[in-house]
Amino acid sequence: MEPQMKRWKGSACDADSWVAYPVLSDEQSQDVELIEAFAAPIVNKKETSQLVRELNSLYPLNGLQHIKRVRARKEKGSPHPLEVLVCLVSDAPDMKVVSVDSLLPGVKPDGLGEPFVVKVPARAPLTRPQFELASQHWPTSFHEDKQVTVALRGELFSPPQKAVMHMYMMSAVTAAKAGRELGMEAVGAVVVDPAMERIVAVGHDCRGDHPLHHAVMVCIDLVARSQGGGCYCFDSYPACQFTPPTSNMFQNGPDLEAGSQPYICTGYDLYVTREPCVMCAMALVHSRIGRVFYGTGSADGAFGTKFKIHAQKDLNHRFEVYKGVLSKQCEDLSSLNDHIKKDSGQ
Ligand SMILES: [Zn+2]
Repeated sequence: MEPQMKRWKGSACDADSWVAYPVLSDEQSQDVELIEAFAAPIVNKKETSQLVRELNSLYPLNGLQHIKRVRARKEKGSPHPLEVLVCLVSDAPDMKVVSVDSLLPGVKPDGLGEPFVVKVPARAPLTRPQFELASQHWPTSFHEDKQVTVALRGELFSPPQKAVMHMYMMSAVTAAKAGRELGMEAVGAVVVDPAMERIVAVGHDCRGDHPLHHAVMVCIDLVARSQGGGCYCFDSYPACQFTPPTSNMFQNGPDLEAGSQPYICTGYDLYVTREPCVMCAMALVHSRIGRVFYGTGSADGAFGTKFKIHAQKDLNHRFEVYKGVLSKQCEDLSSLNDHIKKDSGQ
């Protein structure tokens, strides 16, 4: 395809073999919750705005601003083409008596037909799938995040972007295999500076030395070393490497106290063959990773399977996570691990 892609082994077709999907927050991925409400036909269309004003003042629908007050009836030819949401069933004065009189004391009752119960979405939709489901029940407003919509279709990354992502994850797969050769679990990770399009650090599982040396922890330490910090020495693992910065962008060093920028992984992407565990996920939060891409899920994974650390509202750093990059090759690595009797995680 493009000349620059010839630099790495493989073809553009390889990058067509996988799709990266976003790992969204629980709020973005949950089912649409419905609550019951009373609606009624509007007898005289001309009174619609007056009715809506009165209803808004009697039953303001607090916290349900996403719900439209009036809807058009789906069936054509109805004598009353518009229906209005009167109130939530839970807000109705007496649930046993369902009449316009009882629901709307003080409002002239002949403006509305017989009330009936409908289900309306309890929360504002955050994604297009949620919006489409919610709208089947009652018209709902939706402030679309176009990037999320495109990402959910698996179309966020262009073919040239995917080719580059493919190359980075291949480096992680290669590192995983190198670690496996040394008796470690076959898990590899790569930290990339996407702005400079360069690999900052490559690491693999090193738990033969230290129980905490998961591939991601190794990588973060190597990034810190590239900035003049770091705690560990991985010299006995030739596949674990870091690239010193090419400019003076890290002249301040990893200044933990002042929080000078960039800090460890600020603006960087992580490619890791397997979904990180909680420890690694928290290390990525603390090191201010930009984005995370992983190949395949893991039972104790903290980016979608068991937890969604990256979307945790009470943490002070959140980031995007995508799964499925080189999924097949990353899944194949786990078969290399099958006979290793170690605790899971990475
Ligand atoms: Zn881990």
